[in-house]
Amino acid sequence: MNLSILYRGALSSCNYGCGYCPFAKKVETKAEHEHDRVQLDAFVNRVAELSHRTISIFFTPWGEALIHPRYQRAIVALTHMPHVNKVAIQTNLSCSLRWIDNCEVSKLGLWATYHPGETVQDQFVGTCLSLDKMQVRYSVGIVGLKEHFNAITEIRKALHPNVYLWINAYKRVSDYYCESDRRFLESIDPLFSFNNNYHDSIGRACRCGDTVISVDGSGDIRRCHFIPDVVGNLYADNFEGALRATPCTAAKCGCHIGYVHMNDLPLYDVFGAGVLERIPETT
Ligand code: SF4
Ligand code: SF4
Repeated sequence: MNLSILYRGALSSCNYGCGYCPFAKKVETKAEHEHDRVQLDAFVNRVAELSHRTISIFFTPWGEALIHPRYQRAIVALTHMPHVNKVAIQTNLSCSLRWIDNCEVSKLGLWATYHPGETVQDQFVGTCLSLDKMQVRYSVGIVGLKEHFNAITEIRKALHPNVYLWINAYKRVSDYYCESDRRFLESIDPLFSFNNNYHDSIGRACRCGDTVISVDGSGDIRRCHFIPDVVGNLYADNFEGALRATPCTAAKCGCHIGYVHMNDLPLYDVFGAGVLERIPETT
């Protein structure tokens, strides 16, 4: 059975400084980077040992990971493991793309976010066009701030029509969008309404904790990034004994990387094999 692992290690720094970023505000020391590298290498080695399962990996760092060669190397190595069928990562796409030449590119998926205040559109789109030539699967997203609406229109025109452009709803301010805002955003991202919502989740079935888990740098397993209880450790021989289907214990689930795994939402059908990197099956 497939096991999807959402890995979030100790990394918590970024080369960008987005005002809406809830994390990545730290400058890490050399020792902290080294600590992250040691844990990341251990994770890659552990995944190599789990060859009795089909594994999908999704890196969801609290910062930008792909500017660090250790993450590039980890992804290259993971894509070459026969039992790993997908390696996806959230990125601002500011890194060089040379490392991708060493990947098994059919297994790579990029969740790329465009941050208009931190990069220029031509540069970001140029990188996307390079990914097209390299046949890398990727989605592009943007935070749906009203001041981004022009950038949303422009980047939609600039990207290949087959590239899915998702909008993350800005939900920190209640009733932020009026009806015409919603119509505009849904015209760009037909799935916007799923994101512009905190889904009631308590007591409902979710694949997290069973076929999807969150793992931190020390190997501690949580069912997802949003429920803090540790249910096991990836480095324990019997960690799979702790994996089982249980109802969600959180009141609401409002982040794509969580609610996409809820059993009674139709999103596994929508995204299919692109569920981690947020690429609908139809693109
Ligand atoms: S690129 Fe992402 S991680 Fe970096 S500051 Fe912006 S939102 Fe935060
Ligand atoms: S519904 Fe959301 S909060 Fe609940 S287990 Fe799933 S991902 Fe976690």
